Amino acid sequence: MKKIYLIVCLIIAGYTAVAQGILPTPNSLEYNNSSFVFKNKLSISCDKQCLPSAEYLARCLENSINTKIVKKKSGDVLLNLNPENKNLGKEGYELIIQDGQIRISANTNAGVFYGIQSLRQVLPIEIQGGKDYQLAGIKLAGLKVVDYPKYQWRSFMLDSGRQYQSVAFIKRYLDYMAMLKMNVFHWHLTEGQGWRIEIKKYPKLAEVGSKVASGKGQQGFYTQEQIKDIVSHAQKLHITVVPEIDVPGHSEAALTAYPEMGCFNEVPESVMAFSANLFCGGREKTYQFIQDILDEVCELFPSEYIHLGGDEAPKANWDKCSDCQNKVKEESLKNSDDLQLYFSSRLATYLKTKGKKVIFWGDVVYHEGTTLPDNVVVHWWNWRAHKDIALKNAIKRGHQVICNTNYYTYLNFPLTPWTNYKEKRTFDLKTTYEQNPCDLDEPHELVLGMGCCLWTDWYVQEYMIDQRVFPRIYSLSEQMWSSGKRLDFEEFYHKVKEKYPLLKLLGIEYGPAMREEVPKDYKWD
Ligand SMILES: [Zn+2]
Repeated sequence: MKKIYLIVCLIIAGYTAVAQGILPTPNSLEYNNSSFVFKNKLSISCDKQCLPSAEYLARCLENSINTKIVKKKSGDVLLNLNPENKNLGKEGYELIIQDGQIRISANTNAGVFYGIQSLRQVLPIEIQGGKDYQLAGIKLAGLKVVDYPKYQWRSFMLDSGRQYQSVAFIKRYLDYMAMLKMNVFHWHLTEGQGWRIEIKKYPKLAEVGSKVASGKGQQGFYTQEQIKDIVSHAQKLHITVVPEIDVPGHSEAALTAYPEMGCFNEVPESVMAFSANLFCGGREKTYQFIQDILDEVCELFPSEYIHLGGDEAPKANWDKCSDCQNKVKEESLKNSDDLQLYFSSRLATYLKTKGKKVIFWGDVVYHEGTTLPDNVVVHWWNWRAHKDIALKNAIKRGHQVICNTNYYTYLNFPLTPWTNYKEKRTFDLKTTYEQNPCDLDEPHELVLGMGCCLWTDWYVQEYMIDQRVFPRIYSLSEQMWSSGKRLDFEEFYHKVKEKYPLLKLLGIEYGPAMREEVPKDYKWD
């Protein structure tokens, strides 16, 4: 199999400028006997609706050929929203290179955009890397790609709470997500160790809350202007930015700024690990405070989804707090765990009035109690402690689910042990490709999709992120997108290795793919 694949690659290499495969692997790809040769200029035809896609393609090619956007249908590249195959859904596309024309058609601009991402991958890597390169004279093999995603939700989460990353870094990652056909940037903006989002009504959240931890890269916040800039960059790449405001736990930074929002009006003694310092679930002023924050969040993020965390909220303080326990009595709740369901339910209902869906980590379906409203989506994460209980309970209760477990979608887990990541918290490209429990063969109709995360526990600073994310994220984007027959691992790994020269050109400091490839003295920091 491997031999045949190599021979095919060599034949294609003789015919075209490049022989690398498209990742994530398209649903179907067939070569034909036709071809396309670039001349000195390139005309891109599109109708009015496709103009943003045409402009995007022109920007991608600006260092390699003169492009012109034209209205007539006879351009060298034809983008259109009337595909022959209507079954492509919202994000699928057809890419056809035949008879001297490159045609991309889809039902939506998002589909055309993903067609362009695939087209970019059959161009020389210098062009994908944004470098100067002369396209004139380059010949592309004729082909037909028909492609659409397995899941509508394909997320990458960045923990900007524990460690702050620069705006430039985040934009760079949005670009990589587009290349990987991922469409949701889940932005973990608040954490015990840092509150990173400017809230005008409560300025101390950012002013005080962004400086509560003292490690390198643990201070800083995003102004509302910076956030708008990031959201706008993402929109151009068909990526939705879903903000996470984690409540009631992981809130030590917020409670350092506003101790009166905790049960005992005290500044938390430590911010470095999650604790029982929760927003008080008993007092009405807490609900008002969080709702005011959410008002500003909803103004900044046009996303249909808002993530409200809800994970790891120990109830020791709530159990002792008279306001919390009065609330339990007044609302006829069972206990403090039920109070969290009540708390979550109230906030979800509030956001429903704004037309939003709310995502909570799986912790909210471990316990029985107050019913969560129907706009709640459950984010399944804790496989290590609870296996697939969150997935099963969410489905049983009729909630949509995002599959994103800590086995093996947490890209902060290195390939070999490092600081507090012991052997059990390590994995490589093959592990996640073959053993990821989120990679469901027959997903339930309530499974919205898959996510992966880059947490920044144990001081994972900005410069350490590339080596953790790449190349292993290729396994995950493959599972999120690829809807056809799964390649065997060796064939997939071969395609991943073909991407290394591109990663270098992009300036990605990628790490090792396989455990056995990690040098003895390899540094994870
Ligand atoms: Zn309380």
